[in-house]
Amino acid sequence: MIPVKGYAAQSPTTDLAPWNFERREVGPHDVQFDIQFCGVCHSDLHQIKNDWFPGIFPMVPGHEIVGRVVKVGSHVNKFKVGDLAGTGCLVDSCRTCENCRNDLEQYCLNGNSQTYNGLEQDKKTPTYGGYSSSIVVHEDFVLHISDKLNLAAVAPLLCAGITTYSPLRHWKVGKGHKLAVLGLGGLGHMGVKFGVAFGAEVTVLSTSPSKEADAKKLGAHNFVVTTDAEQVKAAKGTFDFILDTVSADHDLNMYLRMLKTDGTHICVGAPDKPATVSAFSLMAGRKSLAASGIGGLAETQEMLDYCAENNIVSDIEMIDIKDIHTAYDRMLKGDVRYRFVIDMATL
Ligand code: NAP
Ligand code: ZN
Ligand code: ZN
Repeated sequence: MIPVKGYAAQSPTTDLAPWNFERREVGPHDVQFDIQFCGVCHSDLHQIKNDWFPGIFPMVPGHEIVGRVVKVGSHVNKFKVGDLAGTGCLVDSCRTCENCRNDLEQYCLNGNSQTYNGLEQDKKTPTYGGYSSSIVVHEDFVLHISDKLNLAAVAPLLCAGITTYSPLRHWKVGKGHKLAVLGLGGLGHMGVKFGVAFGAEVTVLSTSPSKEADAKKLGAHNFVVTTDAEQVKAAKGTFDFILDTVSADHDLNMYLRMLKTDGTHICVGAPDKPATVSAFSLMAGRKSLAASGIGGLAETQEMLDYCAENNIVSDIEMIDIKDIHTAYDRMLKGDVRYRFVIDMATL
């Protein structure tokens, strides 16, 4: 076994603290890489708090992981020692179901292996994430990272990036479309960057008037403060798509009114409570309510390559691991500009 350093929550009510554990030996198809940076996703906070389901503790969060390969198994041919490498939200899947065969491992019908707070495909070994010094992953679930981009700023692409890229590609959002990005946090700011890069007219819908200047810097064309009744009224019936990245309870009916006829509201945010949607909110204009989860491995690589070609990275604030709870507190207040990334050298 390989000893590694980590930072873990021992229960949903305790703070994260140093916790050393062991990773499996590098198998014939495995890649081991030392973690240099790990992004902080709102899902980390949901999961250590048991917002979604009772978690597996101790929990080492983190699924926006980048670093450098230190060891490869005898049959590995996609990576060599010294390469940059990344892992997102998945470390394995069944590989045989219809979805896995169609590069949709995120929707594996037999249950994929999430990077942390999940189980390996043996369905009994817990997985531990990127708030740690090193990770061992099957090469099929390791991504190639370009050395052209700032490595720390690439980390959030592994979740915030693919989670916004995938639905925008699926619904073919681009030139001629009016796209609203709801919530300007980690996912939201990547949604703006991709929406703009794909040619859409992008509006940010935000509860934080103070983010307007940043939204424009990110490339957004318009900004609507959603706590201002006049601005909300003026936005009625104007968008083809809304990409909803909100992490907490919010009124979908209010946002559905902002869609044009045949518009689509795409949920990527994952609040703990179910939403209440009136049938009339959808009927009035034949609207669709949809959702999307992360992305498959092939699409994640496509997104990383697209980012390298188009010089797209996340806007980050680097933190020491000991400041993780300050980062979580700020995240809960919507005060993220626009992704915290942990410098793993501080572990
Ligand atoms: P984040 O950085 O905290 O951003 C969320 C943003 O939502 C906030 O910055 C805030 O933006 C807005 N917001 C927060 N509370 C709100 C409220 N009550 N009403 C309206 N707006 C509110 O979080 P994130 O890391 O981007 O993650 C966002 C959500 O996506 C989380 O629930 C996360 O678990 C989920 N997620 C889903 C997937 C997936 O596969 N679908 C993947 C990753 C994350 P403003 O200040 O602009 O209002
Ligand atoms: Zn995430
Ligand atoms: Zn599968």
